[in-house]
Amino acid sequence: MQEKTDSILSTRGLGFSYGNGKPALSDVTLDIPKGKKTVFLGPNGSGKSTLFLHFNGVNRPDSGEVVFEGKAVKYDAASLAALRSAVSVVFQNPDDQIFSATVEEDVAFGPLNAGLPNEEIEKRVEEALRMVGLEEFGERPTQQLSFGQRKRVSIAGALAMRPSLLVMDEPTAGLDPQMVHELLEMADEFNSRGTTVVISTHDVETAYEWADEVRGLHQGRLVFSGQPEEFFDREDRLLHEMGLTPPTVLSLNRSLHQLKGTSLTPYPRTLSEAVHKAFPEKKHKAGRLIVKCVDERMEGGAASGGPGLPRTPHNRSGIYGSLARRLAQEGKLDVHYRFHALESGLMEAAEGQDFVLYTDTALCSLAEEKAKRLERNAGVKVAIVHEHEEEGTGGPEKEG
Ligand code: ADP
Repeated sequence: MQEKTDSILSTRGLGFSYGNGKPALSDVTLDIPKGKKTVFLGPNGSGKSTLFLHFNGVNRPDSGEVVFEGKAVKYDAASLAALRSAVSVVFQNPDDQIFSATVEEDVAFGPLNAGLPNEEIEKRVEEALRMVGLEEFGERPTQQLSFGQRKRVSIAGALAMRPSLLVMDEPTAGLDPQMVHELLEMADEFNSRGTTVVISTHDVETAYEWADEVRGLHQGRLVFSGQPEEFFDREDRLLHEMGLTPPTVLSLNRSLHQLKGTSLTPYPRTLSEAVHKAFPEKKHKAGRLIVKCVDERMEGGAASGGPGLPRTPHNRSGIYGSLARRLAQEGKLDVHYRFHALESGLMEAAEGQDFVLYTDTALCSLAEEKAKRLERNAGVKVAIVHEHEEEGTGGPEKEG
């Protein structure tokens, strides 16, 4: 079932060459759906970075056009400034993006250039640094940061523009596994707050689990546009030609289809969906995902002499989102899972255990969405219980 979505940005017949005779992009026509998470896949040199630099007008097409919010992009200074305050592109290598001496100065660069008043700039810098978990690093020299921290600074710089479209070129490249999860969690959070997010990656597992939409590029041409399942589960040679293998979850799904005759659809998106789809006969009662929404009000809690946040009595607990992460870092939340907690929590709950997830209000709906998907794809009904529902009645089950 495909819902109709507006596109925030489109390209029409885009062609571009760096002047060496060989086109980097040929006749690329595509849409980026508004409010969604889109992943671009394609081997090195397929044109992803070149395309992304058309999204914010750094590259100007030789032919065709870029359309943003229904209007063809123009290339005079004022139009470009307006486009770049709405579309932020984060480069693959943070060192191509970070120029200032300190973190704060670097993050302030875009808003300063856009001529915003000082007070507004300060507010935005603080907010962006909090979103990426670098609020303590404002005065640090950028030279003294690790690669992962520099990556976060470059993302904060993009966020400080409060873009409606955030484009990140291979944001997970070079990061350790925890940072990869944290980065995708951040991207979920920006998306939950209304930003359309586009990333490129070579990691098919990430792409399949995270994306709402996939676009495939090969030799400068668009070779796929559609849902992740359609892209990854196919009989033709497209994946092979693009140098990709299917995600493990989909290979498992296909093997079960061959060996046990299990239906290919609905396609599982996560390991827990695949496992529960494979063993439907295991009829235990699912546990609950107890969602405790943290908010700014709670933040000062313990420090300001207020009630503070409870230390969770549950062994199975985790944090999801930047505010919950900060509270855990400050020692105000004691949790087991510090990353990949939503998926881990759903997996534990599907296996019959209660799990407590501390999350930001903006992300609560994502937990519900993923629980619904688990029910739809694997027939397991994990009840989402909000904090206040847990006490007293034990919490009514939400309808899936
Ligand atoms: P991807 O991001 O998918 O790796 P790119 O957009 O970087 O692909 O590259 C697309 C094509 O354009 C490649 O053939 C690459 O060699 C060429 N290219 C990229 N940047 C430049 C540049 N600055 N000058 C000349 N050619 C370039």
